[in-house]
Amino acid sequence: MVHEWALAESIATYLSEKHGGRAFNKIVIGVGILQSIDLDILDFALRELLNQYNVKVAKIEYRTIEVELKCRACGYSWKLLPEELGAEASEMIHFIPEAIHSFIKCPRCGSRDYEVLKGRGIYIEEISYDEE
Ligand SMILES: [Zn+2]
Repeated sequence: MVHEWALAESIATYLSEKHGGRAFNKIVIGVGILQSIDLDILDFALRELLNQYNVKVAKIEYRTIEVELKCRACGYSWKLLPEELGAEASEMIHFIPEAIHSFIKCPRCGSRDYEVLKGRGIYIEEISYDEE
């Protein structure tokens, strides 16, 4: 819970500092599927904080960011969709992102030594202002 509030705080702070005094049409927040986040809590926290900071946003959208991996052994990079992980693995990885290494192998060479290029953390993907 604290986690979601901390993330919401950093988004709200960023918006008020960098774009203070403007009204936003829409912001899109990318959420990595390896990030353990309760979207309902994040959304609630974000709306609360934006109110407090007096940042007006008409619409907040969330987009799931797929996982992108790159093998350190053979250099192959590939993408992983949430449905490819299966329920058990998804749940494990949701709580312990490092657990991905016990479920996934490089599809080309079978190595478990790979980097997670994408799919962690959350970030602001898109900001649109009111044009008036
Ligand atoms: Zn490989």
